[in-house]
Amino acid sequence: MMDAAEVSVRCCIAGGGPAGMMLGFLLARAGISVLVLEKHPDFLRDFRGDTIHPSTLEVMYELGLLDEFLQRPHQEVRTLGGQIGDEFVEVADFTHLPTHCRFIALMPQWDFLDFLAERAKRFPAFQLKMEAEARDLTMEGGRVTGMRASTPAGELRVKADLVVGADGRHSIVRELAGLEVLDLGAPMDVLWMRLSRRSEDPGQTLGRVDTGRIFVMLNREDYWQCAYVIAKGGFDEIRARGLAALREEIAGLAHYLRNRVDELRDWSDVKLLSVSVDRLRTWHRPGLLCIGDAAHAMSPIGGVGINLAIQDAVATANILIPRLLQGPVAQRDLEAVQRRREFPTRATQRLQVLLQNRVIGRVLASTTKMSPPVAVRLLGWVPLLRRLPARLIGLGFRPEHVRAPAAG
Ligand SMILES: Cc1cc2nc3c(=O)[nH]c(=O)nc-3n(C[C@H](O)[C@H](O)[C@H](O)COP(=O)(O)OP(=O)(O)OC[C@H]3O[C@@H](n4cnc5c(N)ncnc54)[C@H](O)[C@@H]3O)c2cc1C
Repeated sequence: MMDAAEVSVRCCIAGGGPAGMMLGFLLARAGISVLVLEKHPDFLRDFRGDTIHPSTLEVMYELGLLDEFLQRPHQEVRTLGGQIGDEFVEVADFTHLPTHCRFIALMPQWDFLDFLAERAKRFPAFQLKMEAEARDLTMEGGRVTGMRASTPAGELRVKADLVVGADGRHSIVRELAGLEVLDLGAPMDVLWMRLSRRSEDPGQTLGRVDTGRIFVMLNREDYWQCAYVIAKGGFDEIRARGLAALREEIAGLAHYLRNRVDELRDWSDVKLLSVSVDRLRTWHRPGLLCIGDAAHAMSPIGGVGINLAIQDAVATANILIPRLLQGPVAQRDLEAVQRRREFPTRATQRLQVLLQNRVIGRVLASTTKMSPPVAVRLLGWVPLLRRLPARLIGLGFRPEHVRAPAAG
C-alpha cells in the first residue's frame, strides 16, 4: 500500500521530470516494480522548456504512443531561423530527418509529463507518489539500499534494489551520494517571459540577435514564449535599470511587440534561469545511478535538455531491464549506462560550451550593429547544409531506440 511508512520496490526513482517519468514508464512496462517520488503536488509548474524533439517523438512512436500523444495540443516547428542585425537566415531544416516526425513539437512540459504518468499508471508495476520529497539515502555495507522521503502523511521509507536520482540539476541524490560534479561554466543567464501573440505577427519560431542582445521567440499560437539571454549575473543590473527599460529593449528587438510589452506588469512576470553546465565524473555508486539533469545539467542552447533526459532513460532501461529481470544490478551494469550516455553528453556539452564562448559571449559583449557571419550565411544559401544543425538539434549524438521488452 502506498500510504504505508515503508514500501519495497525493485527501483525507486527520485524526481518525476522527463528522465524519471520515462524510466518509470519503461520499467513498469517491463513488469519491474517501480516507485517514482515527485516532490511537487502536480506537474503544473513554471515554464521549464516545451520542446519535444524528433528523437523523443521517435521513442513515442516505438512505444506505440505517438498518435495519441500528438492529439494533445501542440505546435510543430519544421525549420528554425534567426534575424541577425537586419538579415533573416534560416539555419535548421528538420524536414529531411530519418524519423516519423520531422519537426519539433512544442507542448507544455506538464502536458508531456501528465501524458506519460497517465499511460504509466496503466501498468500494475508503476507507482507515482506526488508530494514525496527524497531526503536521504539508506545504505548497507557501502551499497545504497533505498531512500527516505518526506510526505504530508509523514516519512516514507523505500527499500529498492536500485535507486535512481532523476531529481534535476539541483539533485539532492547526487549530493547525498557524494558524486563529484564537474562545472563547465556558462557566460549567460536567461530571462523567460510570455507575451501575447496576434494573428498579424510572423508565424515562425525564431531568434533575434543584435548589438549585445539575443532574444528567442517560440510561437505558442496565442502567445510568444520569449527567452532573453543576458550576461551571467546581469539580472540585478537589469532590475536596477527598471522594467520600463527592459520593455523598451524588447520592443527594439521585435517592433511588433511594442504594443504589448506592458503585459510585463512586474518582475514576477520575468523568470530567471541561472544557466549552469555541468556533469558528474561518475554517475553511479553501488545500488545508485543518476540520469538526466542530475547527471548533467545542459546549456539551454539547442533546447536539448529534455531530449537528453529522455535518451538517458531509454538507454538505462535498455541496459538495466534484462539485468533487473534476473536479479539486482551489478556495478558494471551501472558503468555500462554511463559509458553509453557519456559520449553524447560530453559531445553536446562541448558544442554548447564552444557556442557559449565563441558566439554568445561575443554577441553579449558587442556594442555595434551585427550581421551574420559567413558560416551562418552559408546555411542560408545552401539548403543542404541546414540538415546538419537539424540533425544535431533534432536527433543529437547517438539517438537511443527502445529495445527493452514489454511484459508479456
Ligand atoms: C526555465 C527553463 C527553460 C528550459 N527550456 C528548455 C527547453 O526549451 N528545451 C529543453 O530541452 N530543455 C529546457 N530546459 C531544461 C529542461 O527542463 C531539463 O533539461 C529537463 O527537464 C531535464 O529533465 P530531468 O527529468 O533530468 O530533470 P527535471 O526536469 O529537472 O526534473 C526533476 C524533477 O525532480 C523533482 N525533484 C527535485 N528534487 C526532488 C526530491 N528531492 N524529491 C523528489 N522529487 C524531486 C523536481 O520537482 C522535478 O519534477 C529548461 C529548463 C528551465 C529551468
